[in-house]
Order: sequence, then structure tokens, then C-alpha cells
Amino acid sequence: MVEETNKSIMLFGEVASAGLARGPAFVCGCAKDVVVPRRTIDASEAIREMERFDVAISEAERELLELQEKVRQKVGKQEAEIFEVQILLLHDSSLREKVSALCLMQKMNVEAALDEAIDTLTSAFVRLEDPYFRERAADLRDVGKRLLDVLAKDQRSEVPIFPDGSVIVTPELLPSMIVQLDSQTIHGVIVEKGGQTAHATILARARQIPLLIHVPDATKTIRTGDPLIVDGLAGRVFIHPTPAIRREYDRLEADLQAHQTALKGLIDLPAVTRDGVSIKLYANIGKSADAVAAATLNADGVGLYRTEFVFLVQDHFPSEEEQYLMYRTTADRLKPREVVIRALDIGSDKLLSYFPLPREANPSLGCRGTRLLLAHPEILHAQLRAILRLSATHPVSILFPMIGGMEELRAAKAAIESVKASLAVEHESFNPRIPVGAMIETPAAAIMTGQLAQEVDFFSVGTNDLVQYLLTTDRTSSEVASYYEPLHPAMLQVLASVVAVANAKGKRISICGEIAGNPAYTQLLLGLGFRSLSVSPGEILEIKNAIRSTSMQQAEDVARRILESDTIQEIKACLRAANAPTQ
Ligand code: PEP
Ligand code: MG
Repeated sequence: MVEETNKSIMLFGEVASAGLARGPAFVCGCAKDVVVPRRTIDASEAIREMERFDVAISEAERELLELQEKVRQKVGKQEAEIFEVQILLLHDSSLREKVSALCLMQKMNVEAALDEAIDTLTSAFVRLEDPYFRERAADLRDVGKRLLDVLAKDQRSEVPIFPDGSVIVTPELLPSMIVQLDSQTIHGVIVEKGGQTAHATILARARQIPLLIHVPDATKTIRTGDPLIVDGLAGRVFIHPTPAIRREYDRLEADLQAHQTALKGLIDLPAVTRDGVSIKLYANIGKSADAVAAATLNADGVGLYRTEFVFLVQDHFPSEEEQYLMYRTTADRLKPREVVIRALDIGSDKLLSYFPLPREANPSLGCRGTRLLLAHPEILHAQLRAILRLSATHPVSILFPMIGGMEELRAAKAAIESVKASLAVEHESFNPRIPVGAMIETPAAAIMTGQLAQEVDFFSVGTNDLVQYLLTTDRTSSEVASYYEPLHPAMLQVLASVVAVANAKGKRISICGEIAGNPAYTQLLLGLGFRSLSVSPGEILEIKNAIRSTSMQQAEDVARRILESDTIQEIKACLRAANAPTQ
């Protein structure tokens, strides 16, 4: 969508990494912009062409290993592992088979054959339903571009060199481009395609570079050198911003700066309400960079370690030892704070490339979470062994996802007991009283909180899934996005009841869904009875600020009024009034 604002042009996009950016545009192309020489070859040349292909593969692998090392040093070990995917794609037998068939049978030179093979394979990826695999198409294109560059030898274009201070505008942000991105020199990025879970997005977030994705026709509308303002808060780009718009953003930037500085002043202050009630503020983490951020921001610990990331960045199930080392690195960074490690939560929208699951008509209601782990005890046992071994030296706990009832929870606990027994036989140390928790993210678990409390040490409320199941609204669907409403009265009544039951049973309860990271909801959650919130590291200071700005009495008043409301509209009006600045 394009809109004219007094001669300045405005484009709209989706925020993938938040922040404000300004600078001249640097528009670049992708693999398709590489000039691909095309010619018909003699049958006798085919072997030589395939030899060139094999040499190019080795050279591209060398480059990728170099890039990987660069990312490892500049960003982090886990992020660097994304290049494993590209190295794997490089050696994929279907790529070589396709190129070879085109060279031998269609008499194509290797560049043309490679270009066609990459096209065929990426369009197969793009058609896949799972966004994780769809986004791997970008990796494959990146690999194709690299190979074409290697084959072009002397006139190799490499990844474009981004001028300092520019805003990159590109059809697709390829992982090899992002390694050049440094927030000191690159101010922002605008991408026509992109995805929230794309590797490049993950890296941009880790480097705190404002990134907008899904900005249609950005490379056609914007020219290199155009002055831009990227509003990575509202999801807008201004091309040739007018003086009035620039002034508006000068003000916003100054406000943001002042706000950020003020928030940094909260790092060492406690999360306590104005009337002295202490709140535990934990971090939700996935990758290693999050653990560093959580420690830097003085989180009370980790309330949710989504271990899916550990599995996602690999091309195979990480072994017990690999898992142990990764969990230990994270726990080391947070020590002596507690780290709640969630058992692998895959199925439905969270899939692993190397672990295809049977197709189901309704995968979100199918084999996922703890159910899936119980159906694959080898996966569960390896992970439990790694966590239990770590518990000997670090304060970690185990959290089971998607619990639907007592049977599942007891079976999961029995698995812990059996792993403890085998570790004991092997004289491996572990904490025999490692705390065990259940996610409350299914309506059944919410209703059964009282009974489940007999089996666990703590609960963690996952509102992201609880909203989807309670309101029968797919959390990933844009069609029904307007029905996905955490402020639905049914949802708030369920939250009130779950927290009351857990508190009455003396069980620790924390809330870790996205709702906990929104400062507009903090007062309500405290008023409902939550004393422990787990949020993304980037949200910790905002939430601490919200906690320190309210009193428990105000929070309880707001919650009482909201629980009496029958509609989402009334609830929103009530929250707006509660959050409005007082004069
Ligand atoms: C949730 O469902 O709220 C939750 C925290 O888990 P995830 O978002 O990882 O499914
Ligand atoms: Mg969940």
C-alpha cells in the first residue's frame, strides 16, 4: 500500500524488528539480479561443467564457513549455526542431480543449469505450508547466488557493500547480507518479502536493527539515495519525508531516547508496586543472545526457555551431550538465577525439518507438545537426561508444554523418575528434587488447575495457546486475527480462576504468553493475582516501569471492574481509562 503525504510517499509494512531509522536508501537486488551466462554445450563439455560445479561447491562451502565464523564472533554461536542449513543445502543431492541432468540431457552450461535447478527447488519450498520451510527458500536462493558468484570468478559481485548510514531496501534479506549489517553503520532494513521467523529476521533483532517486512514494491518505489524514515514502531516508511514529518520524527526520536535512557535507569531497581508489593520479573528466552540480554537487564531468572530453538537451528536431533552443553551455556549466563527449561514443544506450527510428522487435518489439535514427547520417548529421555544432569550444578526446572490432563502429566513425571533411576545407576549427579511444572495453555488444564496442582511445583500460563483453544481461533491465521483477543471476557475469567486456584494451593504461578509483555495489561494481570511475569528480554524494562507505576489497590480495582464487563469493547474502554495518563 502506498500513500502520498504532502509529496512525501508512505509505504506500509510489518514490524519484524522494532525501532526508528533514518538514512539514504540503498536499494539492492537478489539472486535474480546476477547475470547468468547461458549457452548450449557439447556432450563432451558436460563432465567439465560438472567439475566446475564441484569446485564451486567447495569454494562456496569455504566462504560459508568463513561467514559462519564471522557471525559466531560478532553475534553468537547459536545464530552462526544457521549457516549449517546453507552448507547442508549446498550438498543436497537433489541440487546436484538436477544440475547434472540439465547439463547432460539438456546440454546447458552449468550456470544456466544451476539457475534453473535453484528456481525449481525454491518454488517447491515456497509451496510448502509450514512457514519454517517456506523461509528456507531464502537460504536456497542465497546458496544459488553464492554458487553463481563463485562460478563468475573474476567478475564476482559478492554481496553488495552497504554504504555506512544507509537503509537497505531489498526484495529479500539474504542471510549472507545480514552479516554485514551492523547497527553502527546500517540504520534500518526494508524488505518486500521476509518472515517473522526467517533467519535474517532473527539476526536483525539480535543486532537491534529496525526491520520492516512485507513492504510490497519497496524496491520499485524507492531509489538508491532517496532519504527515508523507517518507523519500525508503526510499520511505515516515509520516502522524501517533508520537513513537517521530519520534525515529527525528531520529536519522537528524542522522546524515545529519553524513554530508553529513563528505562535503563530501572535496571538495578526492584520490580515493586507503588504500595510495596514485589513482583518477579522473568525472561522468556530462545536463543543464546536472549540469555545474555536477560542477565544484563537483571531479570529474576528465566520463566520460559523455549528449547525449540536449540532443535530448530540444527539439521538433526541434538544429542544429549549437545543439549547439555547448550543448556549449560544458557544457565551459566544466568547463574545463580533459576532457569525454567520447557521440554521440547513441537507439532502443529512448530516443526523440525528433520522430523517430518504425519499429516493431520487439524494439527493444532493433534500430536504435539507433551503428547508428542510421550509418543517418542527417545526424544523426551535424551532431553530429560540433559536437563537432569545440568540440575546437579545449576538451578533449573522442567516445564511440560500443552498439558491436557492428569494422565499426561503423570506419564511425563514417570519419565523423569525413570531417567533419574538410570542416571543414579550410572553414578551421574542430578537434583532429585528438581522442580517440575505444567504449562496452563489448554482449556482442560485451566479447568483442572486444582487437580494438576497435586502433581507439580509450579505453573506457567501460556496465553498464546490458551487464547487460541479457548476462543477456537487459530493463532497463526490472519483470516481470524480479529477474533484472537486475549481481552475476551472468557479468557480473563479463566485467568482469574487459574491464578486464584494456584495461589490457594500454594503453587507458584507465572504467566509467560505475549499478554505478559504488553505494559497496557500489566495492571490488569497484577489485579487478577499474578505476582510473577515472564516476558521477552526487550520488554523487561517496560514491564518493570508499568509495575512501578501502579499500586496493587489500583490494579485490583481495575481487575474487578473488568471482570464485571461482558464485552471486549467494555474491557478495552476500562483498560484505556486505567492506562490514561493522570493529570
Ligand atoms: C504460549 O502458548 O503462551 C506460550 C508461551 O508458548 P508458545 O508461544 O511457545 O507456544
Ligand atoms: Mg504455547
